[in-house]
Amino acid sequence: MSNNGNLKLAIQKCGRLSESSLQLLRNCNLEIEKFNDRLVVSVRNFKLDLLFLRDDDIPEYVQDGVAELGIVGEDILNETSADVKVIKKLGFGRCSLRIAIPENDNLNDLTDLNNKRIATSYPKILKGFLKRNNINAKIVNISGSVEAAPSLGIADYICDLVSTGNTLKLNKLKASISVLESEAVLIKNKNLSLQSDKYNIYLKLLSRIESVLNAKNSKYIMMNVPKDSLEKITNLIPSLKSPTILPLADGESLAVHAVIPAEKFWEIVDDLKNAGASGILLLPIENIVL
Ligand code: ATP
Ligand code: MG
Repeated sequence: MSNNGNLKLAIQKCGRLSESSLQLLRNCNLEIEKFNDRLVVSVRNFKLDLLFLRDDDIPEYVQDGVAELGIVGEDILNETSADVKVIKKLGFGRCSLRIAIPENDNLNDLTDLNNKRIATSYPKILKGFLKRNNINAKIVNISGSVEAAPSLGIADYICDLVSTGNTLKLNKLKASISVLESEAVLIKNKNLSLQSDKYNIYLKLLSRIESVLNAKNSKYIMMNVPKDSLEKITNLIPSLKSPTILPLADGESLAVHAVIPAEKFWEIVDDLKNAGASGILLLPIENIVL
């Protein structure tokens, strides 16, 4: 690998986190060319190299300093024993690691797991979970197609990632207790020196990522408001800062602009209309630098 002084960020080469990781970086205004089968790609307009790896390898590579940064799921991070610093939750790659049981079975209580055989490819996480809850169960460690284990008779239950539950259904299983809720996180090598040039590049990248994440959860709302409804309407707006108020040419109404949490829009839109707001627009925001 070239020693060009660039910061190195490891991301998943091909899988469920790949597209969202690249999208986050592109939203940070980083120009990333098509990488095809290359292991390393330099970002055109930032001192950053991307390393494309299997997700299982990312925590260790970051621990060892092959890359200073990585993006990986909390599930994989907790399953490896790599010693890295978690910098930030990234808000994508959400999934949950759950105990799943045969459709006609029931788990009423955690203690029902006692003396059961549970197949998983997350033995470390499962072991910790069982220990914390004082459960004595046998962990059957398998690396793929965990959901087939009960019908093959090698386990009673499984512990695996669940999203829609369709794979479970095909194997006549249903999801039960949650063992871990996971999302993608940004991780950092612990030895990156505060004095190094790379640390400065890291701080710049982090501030771009933060501004993109702030913006993702926010929207810009604009509306026209009769002057005498202004107070009522500004009270309804859960604004990040005080709203902007501009007079309209008709001399009667005002334009009100504000940044609001995206999920609040549908909660307040009817109240805004009832209070006299009209021409309500909701716009996306690319970046917010606080
Ligand atoms: P690799 O070839 O890199 O080892 P993989 O097959 O082990 O890939 P993926 O299935 O691509 O891994 O999953 C990568 C990560 O995506 C998981 O570790 C988890 O954090 C997250 N993930 C898993 N399932 C989902 C899902 N249904 N929705 C969103 N994120 C998920
Ligand atoms: Mg993997």
